[in-house]
Amino acid sequence: MDYVVRGTAADGYIRAFAASTRDLTEEARSIHKTSPVVTAAMGRLLTAGCMMGIMLKGEGDLLTLTIRGDGPLQGITVTADAKGRVKGFPYQPEVWIDPRPDGKLNVGGAVGRGTLTVVRDQGLKEPYSSQVELVSGEIGEDLTNYFAVSEQVPSSVGLGVLVDRDQSVKEAGGFIVQLMPGVSDEVITALENNLKELHSVTQLLENGLTPEQILEKILRGLRPEILETMPAKYHCNCSRERVGKVLLSIGARELQSLIDEGKPAELNCNFCGKSYSFSVEEMKEILAAARQQG
Ligand SMILES: [Zn+2]
Repeated sequence: MDYVVRGTAADGYIRAFAASTRDLTEEARSIHKTSPVVTAAMGRLLTAGCMMGIMLKGEGDLLTLTIRGDGPLQGITVTADAKGRVKGFPYQPEVWIDPRPDGKLNVGGAVGRGTLTVVRDQGLKEPYSSQVELVSGEIGEDLTNYFAVSEQVPSSVGLGVLVDRDQSVKEAGGFIVQLMPGVSDEVITALENNLKELHSVTQLLENGLTPEQILEKILRGLRPEILETMPAKYHCNCSRERVGKVLLSIGARELQSLIDEGKPAELNCNFCGKSYSFSVEEMKEILAAARQQG
Protein backbone atom coordinates (compact mmCIF):
# COMPACT_ATOMS: atom_id res chain seq x y z
CA MET A 1 0.00 0.00 0.00
CA ASP A 2 1.20 3.50 -0.84
CA TYR A 3 2.04 6.02 1.84
CA VAL A 4 3.90 9.22 2.61
CA VAL A 5 6.02 9.82 5.69
CA ARG A 6 6.75 13.26 7.02
CA GLY A 7 9.85 13.68 9.11
CA THR A 8 12.23 16.15 10.57
CA ALA A 9 15.90 16.25 11.53
CA ALA A 10 18.60 18.50 13.00
CA ASP A 11 16.26 19.99 15.63
CA GLY A 12 13.68 20.98 13.05
CA TYR A 13 16.08 22.73 10.67
CA ILE A 14 15.40 20.02 8.13
CA ARG A 15 11.99 18.85 7.05
CA ALA A 16 11.63 15.80 4.89
CA PHE A 17 9.06 13.72 3.08
CA ALA A 18 9.31 10.32 1.43
CA ALA A 19 6.71 8.31 -0.40
CA SER A 20 6.11 4.92 -1.91
CA THR A 21 3.66 5.24 -4.78
CA ARG A 22 3.74 2.04 -6.81
CA ASP A 23 0.03 1.27 -6.59
CA LEU A 24 -1.23 4.73 -7.45
CA THR A 25 1.22 5.04 -10.34
CA GLU A 26 0.05 1.66 -11.63
CA GLU A 27 -3.54 2.83 -11.32
CA ALA A 28 -2.73 5.96 -13.33
CA ARG A 29 -1.10 3.78 -15.94
CA SER A 30 -4.09 1.48 -16.25
CA ILE A 31 -6.56 4.39 -16.44
CA HIS A 32 -4.61 6.36 -19.03
CA LYS A 33 -2.96 3.43 -20.82
CA THR A 34 0.36 5.22 -20.82
CA SER A 35 3.53 4.13 -22.59
CA PRO A 36 6.54 3.55 -20.27
CA VAL A 37 8.09 7.01 -20.57
CA VAL A 38 4.72 8.65 -19.86
CA THR A 39 4.14 6.25 -16.96
CA ALA A 40 7.47 7.40 -15.51
CA ALA A 41 6.66 11.09 -16.00
CA MET A 42 3.15 10.69 -14.55
CA GLY A 43 4.42 8.64 -11.62
CA ARG A 44 7.07 11.21 -10.77
CA LEU A 45 4.62 14.10 -10.78
CA LEU A 46 2.00 12.11 -8.85
CA THR A 47 4.64 11.21 -6.25
CA ALA A 48 5.62 14.87 -5.88
CA GLY A 49 1.93 15.74 -5.65
CA CYS A 50 1.39 13.33 -2.74
CA MET A 51 4.24 14.84 -0.75
CA MET A 52 3.47 18.47 -1.60
CA GLY A 53 -0.20 17.84 -0.80
CA ILE A 54 0.83 16.88 2.73
CA MET A 55 2.54 20.30 2.98
CA LEU A 56 -0.84 22.02 2.52
CA LYS A 57 -2.21 23.56 5.66
CA GLY A 58 -5.98 23.22 5.47
CA GLU A 59 -8.12 20.13 5.05
CA GLY A 60 -9.94 21.43 1.97
CA ASP A 61 -6.84 22.85 0.30
CA LEU A 62 -5.95 21.66 -3.16
CA LEU A 63 -2.65 21.60 -4.99
CA THR A 64 -2.36 21.53 -8.76
CA LEU A 65 0.92 20.83 -10.53
CA THR A 66 0.97 21.45 -14.27
CA ILE A 67 3.85 20.75 -16.58
CA ARG A 68 3.69 22.01 -20.14
CA GLY A 69 6.44 21.28 -22.60
CA ASP A 70 7.23 21.36 -26.30
CA GLY A 71 8.11 17.65 -26.33
CA PRO A 72 5.79 14.90 -27.59
CA LEU A 73 4.20 14.40 -24.15
CA GLN A 74 2.98 18.03 -24.24
CA GLY A 75 2.11 18.14 -20.57
CA ILE A 76 0.74 16.61 -17.40
CA THR A 77 -1.67 17.89 -14.79
CA VAL A 78 -1.74 16.47 -11.26
CA THR A 79 -3.88 17.54 -8.35
CA ALA A 80 -3.46 16.52 -4.72
CA ASP A 81 -5.13 17.23 -1.42
CA ALA A 82 -3.80 17.32 2.13
CA LYS A 83 -4.90 13.73 2.78
CA GLY A 84 -2.65 11.92 0.35
CA ARG A 85 -5.19 11.71 -2.45
CA VAL A 86 -3.89 12.42 -5.94
CA LYS A 87 -5.04 12.20 -9.53
CA GLY A 88 -3.68 13.31 -12.85
CA PHE A 89 -3.65 12.98 -16.59
CA PRO A 90 -1.09 13.19 -19.37
CA TYR A 91 -1.92 15.32 -22.42
CA GLN A 92 -0.49 12.62 -24.66
CA PRO A 93 -0.62 9.17 -23.02
CA GLU A 94 1.35 7.33 -25.68
CA VAL A 95 4.81 8.64 -26.40
CA TRP A 96 7.60 6.49 -27.79
CA ILE A 97 11.03 8.03 -27.57
CA ASP A 98 14.54 6.56 -27.46
CA PRO A 99 15.97 5.99 -23.98
CA ARG A 100 18.72 8.22 -22.68
CA PRO A 101 22.36 7.25 -23.26
CA ASP A 102 22.41 5.77 -19.72
CA GLY A 103 19.52 3.46 -20.63
CA LYS A 104 16.91 5.29 -18.53
CA LEU A 105 13.52 6.35 -19.82
CA ASN A 106 13.90 9.76 -21.44
CA VAL A 107 11.37 11.75 -19.42
CA GLY A 108 13.15 15.05 -20.09
CA GLY A 109 13.05 14.39 -23.82
CA ALA A 110 9.36 13.51 -23.73
CA VAL A 111 8.53 16.68 -21.78
CA GLY A 112 10.85 19.06 -23.62
CA ARG A 113 11.24 22.71 -22.74
CA GLY A 114 8.44 24.57 -21.05
CA THR A 115 7.00 25.55 -17.70
CA LEU A 116 5.97 24.15 -14.33
CA THR A 117 3.01 25.80 -12.66
CA VAL A 118 2.06 25.26 -9.04
CA VAL A 119 -1.36 26.39 -7.83
CA ARG A 120 -2.46 26.19 -4.21
CA ASP A 121 -6.17 26.64 -3.78
CA GLN A 122 -7.01 27.46 -0.20
CA GLY A 123 -10.75 27.73 -0.66
CA LEU A 124 -11.62 31.21 0.54
CA LYS A 125 -8.63 33.21 -0.59
CA GLU A 126 -7.40 33.78 -4.12
CA PRO A 127 -5.44 30.71 -5.20
CA TYR A 128 -1.69 31.12 -4.95
CA SER A 129 -0.09 30.48 -8.32
CA SER A 130 3.53 30.40 -9.36
CA GLN A 131 5.27 29.47 -12.60
CA VAL A 132 8.88 28.61 -13.36
CA GLU A 133 10.74 27.53 -16.48
CA LEU A 134 11.57 23.84 -16.67
CA VAL A 135 15.23 23.08 -15.99
CA SER A 136 15.46 19.65 -17.59
CA GLY A 137 11.92 18.28 -17.84
CA GLU A 138 13.02 15.40 -15.60
CA ILE A 139 10.53 16.71 -13.00
CA GLY A 140 12.63 16.12 -9.84
CA GLU A 141 15.13 18.81 -10.87
CA ASP A 142 12.31 21.06 -12.01
CA LEU A 143 10.66 20.89 -8.60
CA THR A 144 13.99 21.45 -6.82
CA ASN A 145 14.34 24.61 -8.91
CA TYR A 146 10.73 25.62 -8.21
CA PHE A 147 11.27 25.45 -4.43
CA ALA A 148 14.47 27.48 -4.69
CA VAL A 149 13.15 30.15 -7.05
CA SER A 150 9.50 30.49 -6.07
CA GLU A 151 9.46 29.59 -2.40
CA GLN A 152 13.07 30.43 -1.49
CA VAL A 153 13.36 27.06 0.25
CA PRO A 154 16.58 25.17 -0.57
CA SER A 155 15.39 21.65 -1.35
CA SER A 156 16.39 18.38 -2.85
CA VAL A 157 13.70 16.48 -4.72
CA GLY A 158 14.23 12.89 -5.86
CA LEU A 159 11.56 11.04 -7.80
CA GLY A 160 11.69 7.65 -9.46
CA VAL A 161 9.55 5.15 -11.32
CA LEU A 162 10.65 1.69 -12.42
CA VAL A 163 8.68 0.24 -15.30
CA ASP A 164 8.70 -3.55 -15.65
CA ARG A 165 9.18 -5.49 -18.88
CA ASP A 166 5.42 -5.96 -19.22
CA GLN A 167 5.08 -2.16 -18.88
CA SER A 168 3.47 -2.37 -15.44
CA VAL A 169 4.90 -0.28 -12.61
CA LYS A 170 7.47 -2.20 -10.61
CA GLU A 171 8.36 0.50 -8.10
CA ALA A 172 7.65 4.19 -7.64
CA GLY A 173 8.50 6.69 -4.97
CA GLY A 174 10.58 9.65 -3.97
CA PHE A 175 11.63 12.19 -1.41
CA ILE A 176 11.71 15.91 -0.72
CA VAL A 177 14.22 17.31 1.78
CA GLN A 178 14.15 21.00 2.71
CA LEU A 179 16.31 23.34 4.74
CA MET A 180 14.61 25.75 7.11
CA PRO A 181 15.88 29.29 7.74
CA GLY A 182 18.78 29.52 10.22
CA VAL A 183 20.18 26.05 9.48
CA SER A 184 23.89 25.75 10.30
CA ASP A 185 26.63 25.13 7.74
CA GLU A 186 27.54 21.87 9.51
CA VAL A 187 24.06 20.49 8.99
CA ILE A 188 24.05 21.59 5.34
CA THR A 189 27.40 19.90 4.72
CA ALA A 190 26.34 16.69 6.43
CA LEU A 191 23.12 16.58 4.41
CA GLU A 192 24.93 17.31 1.16
CA ASN A 193 27.35 14.47 1.86
CA ASN A 194 24.48 12.06 2.53
CA LEU A 195 22.78 13.11 -0.70
CA LYS A 196 26.00 12.67 -2.66
CA GLU A 197 26.38 9.12 -1.40
CA LEU A 198 22.86 8.33 -2.40
CA HIS A 199 22.50 6.58 -5.70
CA SER A 200 19.52 7.48 -7.83
CA VAL A 201 16.04 7.14 -6.37
CA THR A 202 15.47 4.36 -8.84
CA GLN A 203 18.37 2.52 -7.25
CA LEU A 204 16.88 2.97 -3.77
CA LEU A 205 13.57 1.63 -5.03
CA GLU A 206 15.27 -1.25 -6.77
CA ASN A 207 16.92 -2.14 -3.47
CA GLY A 208 13.48 -2.23 -1.89
CA LEU A 209 13.95 0.63 0.56
CA THR A 210 10.83 1.85 2.35
CA PRO A 211 10.12 5.59 2.68
CA GLU A 212 11.30 5.38 6.30
CA GLN A 213 14.58 3.79 5.23
CA ILE A 214 15.06 6.38 2.49
CA LEU A 215 14.71 9.17 5.06
CA GLU A 216 17.06 7.38 7.46
CA LYS A 217 19.66 7.21 4.71
CA ILE A 218 19.31 10.84 3.66
CA LEU A 219 19.24 12.13 7.25
CA ARG A 220 21.91 9.83 8.66
CA GLY A 221 23.73 11.43 11.56
CA LEU A 222 21.21 14.26 11.77
CA ARG A 223 18.84 12.74 14.37
CA PRO A 224 15.93 12.01 12.04
CA GLU A 225 12.46 11.64 13.45
CA ILE A 226 9.31 10.40 11.70
CA LEU A 227 6.39 12.64 12.61
CA GLU A 228 3.56 11.26 10.57
CA THR A 229 2.63 8.46 8.19
CA MET A 230 -0.24 8.97 5.82
CA PRO A 231 -1.77 6.60 3.29
CA ALA A 232 -1.65 7.80 -0.32
CA LYS A 233 -3.92 6.79 -3.14
CA TYR A 234 -5.23 7.60 -6.57
CA HIS A 235 -8.61 9.14 -6.02
CA CYS A 236 -11.00 10.96 -8.33
CA ASN A 237 -13.91 12.92 -6.95
CA CYS A 238 -15.60 13.69 -10.24
CA SER A 239 -19.37 14.08 -10.42
CA ARG A 240 -22.02 14.85 -13.04
CA GLU A 241 -22.03 18.42 -11.81
CA ARG A 242 -18.29 18.91 -12.31
CA VAL A 243 -18.27 17.25 -15.70
CA GLY A 244 -21.32 19.36 -16.61
CA LYS A 245 -19.17 22.42 -16.01
CA VAL A 246 -16.60 21.04 -18.42
CA LEU A 247 -19.39 20.68 -20.95
CA LEU A 248 -20.14 24.36 -20.52
CA SER A 249 -16.49 25.31 -20.84
CA ILE A 250 -16.56 24.34 -24.52
CA GLY A 251 -18.61 27.49 -24.97
CA ALA A 252 -22.28 28.36 -25.13
CA ARG A 253 -22.37 28.34 -28.92
CA GLU A 254 -20.84 24.87 -29.19
CA LEU A 255 -23.18 23.59 -26.52
CA GLN A 256 -26.13 25.05 -28.42
CA SER A 257 -25.02 23.32 -31.59
CA LEU A 258 -24.84 20.00 -29.70
CA ILE A 259 -28.38 20.64 -28.50
CA ASP A 260 -29.48 21.46 -32.04
CA GLU A 261 -28.04 18.17 -33.25
CA GLY A 262 -30.47 16.55 -30.86
CA LYS A 263 -28.03 13.86 -29.68
CA PRO A 264 -26.88 13.19 -26.13
CA ALA A 265 -23.27 14.17 -25.38
CA GLU A 266 -20.79 11.67 -24.01
CA LEU A 267 -18.04 13.07 -21.82
CA ASN A 268 -15.21 11.29 -20.03
CA CYS A 269 -13.59 12.55 -16.86
CA ASN A 270 -10.00 13.53 -17.71
CA PHE A 271 -8.68 12.11 -14.45
CA CYS A 272 -10.37 8.71 -14.13
CA GLY A 273 -11.95 8.09 -17.51
CA LYS A 274 -15.45 7.64 -16.09
CA SER A 275 -18.06 8.30 -18.73
CA TYR A 276 -20.97 10.68 -18.26
CA SER A 277 -23.82 11.00 -20.71
CA PHE A 278 -25.85 14.21 -20.93
CA SER A 279 -29.26 14.15 -22.58
CA VAL A 280 -30.39 17.04 -24.78
CA GLU A 281 -32.74 18.07 -21.95
CA GLU A 282 -29.86 18.18 -19.47
CA MET A 283 -27.69 20.19 -21.84
CA LYS A 284 -30.51 22.70 -22.21
CA GLU A 285 -30.70 23.00 -18.43
CA ILE A 286 -26.94 23.53 -18.11
CA LEU A 287 -27.04 26.22 -20.77
CA ALA A 288 -30.07 27.94 -19.26
CA ALA A 289 -28.49 27.93 -15.77
CA ALA A 290 -25.27 29.40 -17.17
CA ARG A 291 -27.17 32.15 -19.00
CA GLN A 292 -29.04 32.99 -15.82
CA GLN A 293 -25.75 33.38 -13.95
CA GLY A 294 -24.71 35.76 -16.72
ZN1 LIG B 1 -13.11 11.22 -12.46
